[in-house]
Amino acid sequence: MEMKIKKRPYIIPEYSITGDILSYHSCGLQYRLQNKGELPPARPVQLWFGQFIHGSLEEAYLRWKKNPNYRVLPLDWASRIRDIEMTVYKRLAAGGVRPPPNIFCPYDEPNEKLGGCPDENHPHKLIASKRVERTLEVWAPHLFPLISEAEVKLKGTRPMPNYSESISRSRHYGITGIVDVLASVKVASAGPDNLILKKIREEKFGEELLQEAAQNEFDIIIDYKGMARPKPSDAEWNHHYDQVMTYAWLREKQLESNRVRVAIIFYLNELVPSESDLKKLQRLVLSQQGNSTDDLKLNSQDLASLKAWNGATHSLQLSPESMINRSIRIIQVNKQNIDQSLRSMDGAVSEIENSVIDEMRGKKILETWKMLPRDETCTICDFKTFCPKSSDKRPPRITE
Ligand code: SF4
Ligand SMILES: [Zn+2]
Repeated sequence: MEMKIKKRPYIIPEYSITGDILSYHSCGLQYRLQNKGELPPARPVQLWFGQFIHGSLEEAYLRWKKNPNYRVLPLDWASRIRDIEMTVYKRLAAGGVRPPPNIFCPYDEPNEKLGGCPDENHPHKLIASKRVERTLEVWAPHLFPLISEAEVKLKGTRPMPNYSESISRSRHYGITGIVDVLASVKVASAGPDNLILKKIREEKFGEELLQEAAQNEFDIIIDYKGMARPKPSDAEWNHHYDQVMTYAWLREKQLESNRVRVAIIFYLNELVPSESDLKKLQRLVLSQQGNSTDDLKLNSQDLASLKAWNGATHSLQLSPESMINRSIRIIQVNKQNIDQSLRSMDGAVSEIENSVIDEMRGKKILETWKMLPRDETCTICDFKTFCPKSSDKRPPRITE
């Protein structure tokens, strides 16, 4: 009797755009150790804040939709926002994702342990809470009425780049992401004071796009980042661009979805910058001598204040106008831009797949994964104590 050989299950590697691709771009070795190793990172600072701000905005949106108490914006922090924050904090903590001390007060009642708080008068509005509050104050009244679908899960497959029958793990790879979607009809009918509408109109392509919005339905996708606005010369700036273009591609493949014409990224730390954010911005302003400062989105008064600032903590306050302008990035989406970004996405997947295969064939981790030492990532990296590229072997330092 002929025995049938059971085929191996067909499993395709699945990549999350934020969890895998962006983490890999930040540093390949750190990505490998965090995501494919046994140990979760002890203090995933950006991971926590990114998820916290996303979660808080989604929770606020759901309550805004269903609960009349949350419809009057802006929301009061103590009686409304704090409850949203604690809901999200507990949800993340249940999944093992906890905040570092000094950025969030996790206590509901007075007289709990002091933790990273300055005294026992909990709850404290620490920097993570200040950013959530300011985001809800500035953006929620303009954004929430335009949302047509929240937390849309996107999923698609692409051919495995450089596929080889004998080497590759699979013929395809999966790619996933989550976005909020705005409807063009809602944008077109928003009042003239809607800030999102105003910001779209300020773009070169804005006026024409808004005219089109009144006739042809299209989608606008939104992503929130719990971080400062990168410099346009940073690789990260381009990676975020590729990320939203890939989201647009995934969205357009969904049944009954419209074309995506615009993507909006919010860099929410800009609304409440930390001292180190301001120092970085000052260095950037000083390094621009003679070059255009248009892409910094700072008004002339703030440019002058940053140039003159001596670095003392509380003496510099940027204008709300500059902070708001720096917190939003509007990107035009078209087929050509999408194709170009998909090629970059394929390139990153190809690099990761090659490293995985090398490792499966017995190469050592440190010889396989590319390392990208940079101050911002290495300072808070949990693996710096043994990473050959890190010159600072002290335990990770927490930053805001
Ligand atoms: S210390 Fe720096 S180079 Fe080394 S793994 Fe961490 S982030 Fe990468
Ligand atoms: Zn506290």
